[in-house]
Amino acid sequence: MKKRFKIKEKIHQFKAWRERPREVAPMSQEEHECLNCHDHYIGNYCPRCGQAASTDRFSMKVAAENFAEAYGMGERGMFRTILDLILRPGHLILDYLRGRRASYFAPFKMYFLLAAVSLLVTHGLNITGHALHDDSENTTEEVKREHKSGKTTKTTNDFEENTPTMEQGITIDEDGVQRSFEKDYPEESRMYSIIYSVLEKIERFEEKYPSINILLLLMLISGNLFLFFRHSPNIPDLRYPELFISLVYIANMYTVYSIVFDFFSLTKLASLSIFLTIIPLKQMSGYSWWRTILKTVVAFTIMFVLLIVFIVLAVLGVRLFVEYHG
Ligand SMILES: [Zn+2]
Repeated sequence: MKKRFKIKEKIHQFKAWRERPREVAPMSQEEHECLNCHDHYIGNYCPRCGQAASTDRFSMKVAAENFAEAYGMGERGMFRTILDLILRPGHLILDYLRGRRASYFAPFKMYFLLAAVSLLVTHGLNITGHALHDDSENTTEEVKREHKSGKTTKTTNDFEENTPTMEQGITIDEDGVQRSFEKDYPEESRMYSIIYSVLEKIERFEEKYPSINILLLLMLISGNLFLFFRHSPNIPDLRYPELFISLVYIANMYTVYSIVFDFFSLTKLASLSIFLTIIPLKQMSGYSWWRTILKTVVAFTIMFVLLIVFIVLAVLGVRLFVEYHG
């Protein structure tokens, strides 16, 4: 009974800690002479030029810090911000929107650094030592080659087994003119095959470039999210640019998880971390869990329906165009 109480207390403490912004270092009371502009002052930074009072001659440590800074891992807390993105993402976003900027690593800069790391990991810097998504491309290549030589194909992908791909629907004559097999493939199935091949390409892109993909997805959905979260308890007058900044931080959070999972070659888990988006949305909005989930699911559903309508209209448009002009 007593132990249980302690765990409850710990959880309570953790929740309180999550909501508290990180403390800024205390003000130095010593007098300093700025090494850059030679002004005398009391404090941590020179009020005239902004150079830190802690600036010193180069030691190995300072040189290493200087090097790290070039890659965005210096004083402004890249690692601390990553830790916050895991433990208290929504509270970090709230802090940042409310003006506590210097304590956290800037969202866009962080995004580009994380995207670079993510690219390295998916392209070979992981425990397998190989690029993570080569197999799927090989399979498609093999399918194409086997198809040309007239062999029957065996694929692991049900999609490809049951539906003809775009390449399969088109043949090249001896004189080099492209013709399509209209008799063998009825129009509907050709249309589906085009949609499938588009979706397949999107899926491969998504696996290869998780950080780019998540940002594109969040940008796509930002309008819908804005509609559902602009009058939340924590930010009753959310502005669209503020949501945009929040989404960049959320993309960063996702990228951190996908880097870790991809590093251990757990690619399925990496794509599943999209569901963690709920956590920062809940923390920053102040809605209950159910309300946040409901709002997010509705926002995503509307986006997907619009996207499907758009794809179908685009395919129909292309077909009409080809029929009239082809
Ligand atoms: Zn100065």
